[in-house]
Amino acid sequence: MSESRPLRSLLIANRGEIACRVARTARAMGIRTIAVYSEADADAPHVRACDEAWPVGPAPAAESYLVVDRILDIAKRSGADAVHPGYGFLSENAGFAKACAAAGIIFVGPPATAIEAMGSKAGAKALMEKAGVPLVPGYHGADQDDGTLADAARAIGFPVLLKASAGGGGKGMRVVRSDDELLAAIGAAKREGKSSFGDDRLIVEKYLERPRHVEVQVFADSHGHTVHLFERDCSAQRRHQKVLEEAPGPGIDAGTRARLGKAAVDAATAVGYVGAGTVEFIMDESGSFHFMEMNTRLQVEHPVTELITGLDLVEMQLRVARGEPLPFAQDDLSITGHAVEVRLYAEDPNRDFLPQTGHLEHLHLPDTLPGIRIDSGVVQGGAVSIHYDPMIAKVIAHGPDRAAALTRLASALGEVRVVGVTTNAGFLKRLVEHPGVMGGAFDTGLIAREIDVLCPPPEPPPTGIVALIAFAELQAEAETARRRASETGDPHSPWARSDGWRLNDQAYQDLVLIDGEIRIPVRAMPLPDGVRVTCAGETVSVTGTRAPDGTLDARIDGIRRSAHVMISGARRVVFTEGRSWVVTLEDPLAVTDDAEEIGGALTAPMPAKVTAVHVQVGDPVTRGAPLVVLEAMKMEHTITAPADGTVATLPVGEGDLVEEGAVLVSLDLAASDRTGNT
Ligand code: ADP
Repeated sequence: MSESRPLRSLLIANRGEIACRVARTARAMGIRTIAVYSEADADAPHVRACDEAWPVGPAPAAESYLVVDRILDIAKRSGADAVHPGYGFLSENAGFAKACAAAGIIFVGPPATAIEAMGSKAGAKALMEKAGVPLVPGYHGADQDDGTLADAARAIGFPVLLKASAGGGGKGMRVVRSDDELLAAIGAAKREGKSSFGDDRLIVEKYLERPRHVEVQVFADSHGHTVHLFERDCSAQRRHQKVLEEAPGPGIDAGTRARLGKAAVDAATAVGYVGAGTVEFIMDESGSFHFMEMNTRLQVEHPVTELITGLDLVEMQLRVARGEPLPFAQDDLSITGHAVEVRLYAEDPNRDFLPQTGHLEHLHLPDTLPGIRIDSGVVQGGAVSIHYDPMIAKVIAHGPDRAAALTRLASALGEVRVVGVTTNAGFLKRLVEHPGVMGGAFDTGLIAREIDVLCPPPEPPPTGIVALIAFAELQAEAETARRRASETGDPHSPWARSDGWRLNDQAYQDLVLIDGEIRIPVRAMPLPDGVRVTCAGETVSVTGTRAPDGTLDARIDGIRRSAHVMISGARRVVFTEGRSWVVTLEDPLAVTDDAEEIGGALTAPMPAKVTAVHVQVGDPVTRGAPLVVLEAMKMEHTITAPADGTVATLPVGEGDLVEEGAVLVSLDLAASDRTGNT
């Protein structure tokens, strides 16, 4: 029996949402929190979430968050009583757990021996077999001869699954359906294991068709008590990686729940487990379940268990780590309602889920909706960098029953607004609303089978959406005009006029929106309180206002629709009715090549402000050189030299307001030929 130890300060050896999540609970418990941050994370939310923050090295995790000695050194110098590793990074590194113990620092996790015991899939299965935990039929022996592995596969019967014993994250797995492919697959799986995990040992399992992934949250204290906190279902997967997780498992009856719980507690007890852990099972179509592996840390999906049990798992981890006994017995625990989580990623579902990086110009996560919890580690203005996992947030819904939780989650996903990186929000919403998921009887192959429904090709925006963009354009320009007028202090300036598109007495404005390969010509006629838009033979009127944050208070042909139109450089992003559209506004000034026809004089194609002048009279310039920069319609346009030449006249200066057709700069093209020849 271990006695209680002081835990007044905690180093959080992680970043992103999990570091913020751990800090939230630790601070609520009055524990001093210490963050570590890489060079890429100096201003990251997890740094601000903690009482103090220490630099840990360059951006790549291998040179910062994964360097055991550096983390330990910071733990010692900052006076941390304990280290919480989060998930990923050092969380399942037995060497790190040992090094913490040796330095007299509490590792918030299981003993190193339990991490080691569960670290290899082969070793874990051997142990579980002894403990009487049901296993997937398979081979996990030490003899790794190709012939032995092949014989084991034949004895199990095809299809079989080859797994790297040291594997994780869905990597290093191969399905083999017949004897013909077997030897080649064994060779390839060994090579994959070697290159990904530095270990070519394999295990062979019966490959279950249409299985479910059901896992059990366990908790053990250091006084010999172990309980389970019920199951989670994580069957909605893509390439063996979890996409949606929920608790309790749909369709799991009380008897199955009790058997799952017992098997998980037996598994944990067999390795002398302490703290939070997850025992993963695979369930076949008959409802029988088999041990797959144990994750000896807090899982990404732990919030769904928190929501149905009302417990704070991080608080329990910290209490157990400081030697307290679990404050309840198994029978004290019960399930309230249903919870579902999805992982919002910066990735492009239409390009095979390619991870995206970029600047989060705008980020709205619906964290005030009833029953919705958002766990996020990024903020507007931050970045999704190439160095780390591109997760933006976990969106988690709780409701009185499964249907209510899914409905809340779908609504919340419809309110996610991200500008700057492409996300999987639309894909997740379609997944949550998919009849297979709503029905609850789906298996791990659902996403792959339904991928065409879940990731439809993007559609061009309908006229109503185009009209919202044109309306936003008009409003944004009016706003710019008002701002300019107040800057110049001249109320009679033409810039003070808010009906910006009428500056040249034009009755209409033509815009071109670009959607991929498609050009969408739009004619917009200003109305006293909005715009009438004609596009693809349809005419739609939009009236109302647009707030500077992009929120529209607008009516389309009289019907009010809640919508946001965000302006990001040349891109226009519309969010409405739970969907989004992204188009590019064609730059009407990108036509400098015409300049040569008018004798080298470059004119302003529309009213604009000169924001920069890069040349002086007499300067030689080469084709493509930037000469003058204009700003119009909140966009910058660089006027470049259409050919080699010398600047002959320059009638404008920085800060000038110019009308359409005004000469900005003229080039002496012949002079250039002469200088070019000497
Ligand atoms: P990793 O450690 O790489 O995440 P797991 O062993 O946890 O690998 O398996 C990941 C996923 O692969 C599971 O959730 C399940 O969908 C699938 N899987 C694993 N074992 C089997 C099996 N024997 N039959 C069918 N699918 C399996």
